[in-house]
Amino acid sequence: MTIYNLGSINADYVYDVPHLPAGGETIAATAHRVGLGGKGANQSVAARLAGAEVRHIGAVGADGRWAVERLRGFGVDVAHVAEVGGPTAHAIINVDPQGENMIVLLAGANALQDEARIGAALADAGPGDTLLLQNETTCQLSAAQRAGACGMRVIYSAAPFQAEAVKQMLPLTTILVLNEVEAAQLSDTLGGRMLPDMIVTRGARGASWAVRGGETVEIPAFAVEAVDTTGAGDCFIGSVAACLDLGMGREEALRYGAAAAALQVSRPGTADAMPPRDEVLAFLG
Ligand code: ATP
Repeated sequence: MTIYNLGSINADYVYDVPHLPAGGETIAATAHRVGLGGKGANQSVAARLAGAEVRHIGAVGADGRWAVERLRGFGVDVAHVAEVGGPTAHAIINVDPQGENMIVLLAGANALQDEARIGAALADAGPGDTLLLQNETTCQLSAAQRAGACGMRVIYSAAPFQAEAVKQMLPLTTILVLNEVEAAQLSDTLGGRMLPDMIVTRGARGASWAVRGGETVEIPAFAVEAVDTTGAGDCFIGSVAACLDLGMGREEALRYGAAAAALQVSRPGTADAMPPRDEVLAFLG
């Protein structure tokens, strides 16, 4: 089947700085790199590397063609990534020697999604297919409504957390994915609403899947030396979505996701550090 991912595509401009700048201060960066980022793009790469067919739905500006080519290079279908006026979403990321960061994010083209384009992208989708969503684009609600109407599974990674968006999305969501900070924010804002299936990730302490009205499956994280945890959640979510799409059960999918994320955090980088299926299967033994 196919994973349709309505997701952000960002350019990450990363600057190594001797310390994080204070107000009014100008400092010199000691190094600079530009990478493909955005939760959406990261999750598409992870799902593709795990073996799923992935169609990315999104938008970039003319300055983001290279990012679309990067996605294509991973084998992601980019036929429904539009080029729109205005800048590609980008993040200015300052990183100090301790690894602390300070980030400015411009939503740019991520905020210029179009319902007609999403409808065209989902035209041949149906039961068994998956719609993957995060909170870095517009049009999630209407996309989830379309997906529900044609019987798709909706996996919603509610990050960055926005209480109102999550409340609206809950009835349309098959599986909600949160990290533990977001899960705490959710229980603060939720009242007595009925929850869908919920996966909560807890960094080096693993993850759990609470089945709606039923059991909870817990899996530990793999013990690795983490050098860069950026995008661990995206690697995990994209991988789990792919495993479910490929027909695996809950526990097996979570275990694969944990292994993929463990490999990814053990080397620097985000999308570029995500492991292909063969490497994950070898790691799992
Ligand atoms: P991020 O915002 O950095 O992308 P997140 O907060 O969304 O991450 P986490 O809960 O930190 O997501 O991580 C997702 C999964 O990745 C965890 O459930 C775990 O399986 C794996 N993972 C994360 N950090 C580590 C680590 N230090 N060692 C091993 N596995 C890890």
